[in-house]
Amino acid sequence: MTAPSSPVRPLIDGFGRRVSYLRISVTDRCDFRCVYCMSENMTFLPRKEVLSFEEIEAIAGAFIARGTTKIRLTGGEPLVRRDIMKLVRSLGGKIGAGLEELTITTNGSQLAHHAEGLFAAGIRRVNVSLDTRDPERFSAITRRGRIGDVLAGIEAAQAAGLSIKINMVAMRGVNDDEIEPMMEWAHGKGMGLTLIEGMPLGEVGIDRVDSYLPLRELHETLARRYTLSRLDKRTGGPARYVHVAETGGVLGFITPMSHNFCESCNRVRLTATGQLFLCLGQDDQVNLRDAWRAGGMDGLDAALDHAMRIKPKGHDFVLDRTRPEPAVARHMSVTGG
Ligand code: SAM
Ligand code: SF4
Repeated sequence: MTAPSSPVRPLIDGFGRRVSYLRISVTDRCDFRCVYCMSENMTFLPRKEVLSFEEIEAIAGAFIARGTTKIRLTGGEPLVRRDIMKLVRSLGGKIGAGLEELTITTNGSQLAHHAEGLFAAGIRRVNVSLDTRDPERFSAITRRGRIGDVLAGIEAAQAAGLSIKINMVAMRGVNDDEIEPMMEWAHGKGMGLTLIEGMPLGEVGIDRVDSYLPLRELHETLARRYTLSRLDKRTGGPARYVHVAETGGVLGFITPMSHNFCESCNRVRLTATGQLFLCLGQDDQVNLRDAWRAGGMDGLDAALDHAMRIKPKGHDFVLDRTRPEPAVARHMSVTGG
């Protein structure tokens, strides 16, 4: 079955932005505790409140019926949720029936086990988060990860035919000396590299002001050593891309702090318990689990209309010693980045 090329009632917010991209956090749990993402002692959402796969499928279906063409599975660590491949296969079955692309963001720890299954389910692109290639640094940043598992996952994913983009949170004094080597390595293996500015979400284990590295500054530094040409390529996300002549690869910059990209926002985020967050940096939300349980598909449809009315214009992240508290209290692992 092929879907209509244009949905009957597309999701358009109060600022005229069309929402066509849904990120689903399938669990807020994770086998790592990255210093910029989580605190050492995280309290996770009660398991009994987590959406079942049937509920996630129903919500995804409601979005697809309203013109969502791209879904990304994230978390927490999506691949640690039990039986996750069942969900991947069922959502993968919607590709070509309204959904154009299903992707996943993972820390890579379980990727070696699932790479072939992801490809078989229709996934073609995977984002793997890797902030360093130094084993000791990796242990320190993730607090409990083993870099060998991630590197094996990357190998397996490439062997399975998946195209990989590495996500690296750039942190001054932590991994800024590794940005060029990471780029050379990633590009040498045919992978993209996207650098991300650390965002002030949740209480965590590092000083965000000290470790903040404005990527605009980094771009200027790199431009003195490499020939960077701006690409128009957009992947439905907020990254801006350049082509690096010397490596032949693509480098992305996600700059929520130094360049606010909200004017072109096309996405919303579903938590593992069914809260739909309408902006990464704000608290506005709609409870889709309750909407589904009380009103089925009609309930979801009405809740999505309400969501479009209250989607905020944008975030107002600031990093400032006089305002040390995070912009929002929830951690990135709740909404999946
Ligand atoms: N566990 C998976 C992973 O690490 O790829 C998926 C979830 S993780 C929350 C998604 C992305 O958010 C990762 O690339 C991670 O580096 C990034 N991230 C987490 N906390 C962040 C923060 N405070 N600022 C910027 N990026 C962050
Ligand atoms: Fe886990 Fe990803 Fe957060 Fe790291 S960034 S703690 S891997 S959810």
